[in-house]
Amino acid sequence: MNILVLGSGGREHAIALKISESPKTAHLFVAPGNAGTASIATNVEVGVNDFKAIRELVLKERINLVVVGPEDPLVNGIHDFFLSDPALKEIPVIGPQKAAAALEGSKEFAKEFMKRHDIPTAAYESFTAETLEDGYAFLQTLDAPYVLKADGLAAGKGVLILDDLEEAKRELKAMLVDSKFGNASATVVIEEFLDGIELSCFVLTDGNNYKMLPTAKDYKRIGEGDTGLNTGGMGAISPVPFADSDFMEKIEQQIVKPTIEGLKKDKLPYVGFIFIGLIKVNGEPKVIEYNVRMGDPETEVVIPRVKSDLVKILIAMSEGRLNEVNLEIDERTATTVMAVSGGYPGSYEKGKEITGVENITESLVFHAGTKPSDGKVVTNGGRVMAVTSFGKDFKKALETSYQNIQKLHFEGMYYRKDIGFDL
Ligand code: ATP
Repeated sequence: MNILVLGSGGREHAIALKISESPKTAHLFVAPGNAGTASIATNVEVGVNDFKAIRELVLKERINLVVVGPEDPLVNGIHDFFLSDPALKEIPVIGPQKAAAALEGSKEFAKEFMKRHDIPTAAYESFTAETLEDGYAFLQTLDAPYVLKADGLAAGKGVLILDDLEEAKRELKAMLVDSKFGNASATVVIEEFLDGIELSCFVLTDGNNYKMLPTAKDYKRIGEGDTGLNTGGMGAISPVPFADSDFMEKIEQQIVKPTIEGLKKDKLPYVGFIFIGLIKVNGEPKVIEYNVRMGDPETEVVIPRVKSDLVKILIAMSEGRLNEVNLEIDERTATTVMAVSGGYPGSYEKGKEITGVENITESLVFHAGTKPSDGKVVTNGGRVMAVTSFGKDFKKALETSYQNIQKLHFEGMYYRKDIGFDL
């Protein structure tokens, strides 16, 4: 079958690689893709939110399955777009419809969903400009630090964690009244602060059945010791060593099952990946956030561990028979370390030639911000390449990732040397 993957990051390269290994794949397209996907698929210069151009591409190339990488097209309703078009409606899309994508697109919607279905999460209330005074009053009932979240998508920047009450009030006003995050902060969720260690779990669902993918932990800050600005993610490990079988059982019973049941009860059709951001507080899991797609760089450690034919699983999902297929997972630990452009997450230059990839044989190299240029590969974004390795534990796997990332070179290249430091 012909398959289209939408997106251009390391996540999409990892998904595309697994899809390319399936005997069921005839022709694989990635839009818009990167230099890594260009080596295993046909890249097409079409943006992930350009539904009209995607429609043309799907019809022209006789695509039989569409896998959506990032959240934007899902929150913008790409799945609904396919369902409403007579020429596209039979073509399965992996990724939820708009109504369920609101689990990521609206934090207030996600919190209400969790409350309705008794899914453990931080206590909260939400406010708008009209209820600013109530917001101040609610803040006064909480202890520091104060967690303020813009309701809508804000490119990972819409969450503020503040130590000072007066500053929290000022920021609340800036978000609600001065549109600090544009329309995304027209509603703000104020949450109880949870103190614990974070991890993520990933679930495949056809809307009725589910299967759990391995857990992962990512490292968001640019600096070692988790300091400095937030990034898209500087590295990841799967599985998470502190998620033992008892804890996993709690996650499944208290969070995953009620989430799938909740989707059904609320009549929210969902075929796709669910990424559940969790925090372990006093041994108990609580949900920090839902994402309606895989994470990046978590995909670069989770998907390589899938030993089963991913295409077979995706087809089963789209046909509502996920329960009929096996999901076999590699027992080994996978780690990834991200090489980024100098200056990232602030301003940085693009177009730097990348060398040394061909010398890396013991690790998988997933391209993120790269593009082909005159027979070379050049940088084209902040996060450039993820070096993924396997090992019997995360230390061994990291040793291999670190040995191999040193073989990569581009001007200004930076990577964190302490992934896994807290485990
Ligand atoms: P992402 O960039 O991961 O998509 P986001 O902008 O969607 O994040 P959240 O994941 O809800 O927002 O929050 C971002 C980060 O803020 C979390 O990963 C966590 O570290 C921290 N955080 C969020 N809520 C809380 C809370 N209630 N208590 C403590 N920390 C929190």
